[in-house]
Amino acid sequence: MGNKPNLSVPQKPTVNVRLDQLEQLVCSDCGHDKFVQLVDVRTLPALLSPNRQEGIVVTAAGIACSECGAENKAKPKSTLVLGEEMMGLQQKTLDNRFTYHQPQQKSIATFVQIRKAAKDLAELINNQCPDSREMSLSITKLEECVFWANASIARYQDDSDGS
Ligand SMILES: [Zn+2]
Repeated sequence: MGNKPNLSVPQKPTVNVRLDQLEQLVCSDCGHDKFVQLVDVRTLPALLSPNRQEGIVVTAAGIACSECGAENKAKPKSTLVLGEEMMGLQQKTLDNRFTYHQPQQKSIATFVQIRKAAKDLAELINNQCPDSREMSLSITKLEECVFWANASIARYQDDSDGS
């Protein structure tokens, strides 16, 4: 395999000013100065989930006055830019994770190799380890290991062109 995928993680911006030097945002409805963060929550069907268990996807969705509940519509420019960048990255990551990736011809040999190596280990475990919950778990984890290894190829195979 060639280039490693560039897994960029959004950096937390640092602000070099004291908080009391910044203008306090107040609720335009009631004047209160404390807010709660709003989150957008989506249910994730088991079929689309990487661990095959139903889950939720939580993304930041603005702020609301903690006193009267009014959603804050004023979006300071810097926050807006930062918010969109981070949402964009998250969305890109989600799109990549939850989109079906057609296996490319060049990747198939590697899929087969990984499955073969895992199967050898599975057979060793099955033949040598006592029948037990632990043995069964080790086989399950080995399957997961194959899933994730294959997912790494499927999700980033477009990035490793020209290797
Ligand atoms: Zn308010």
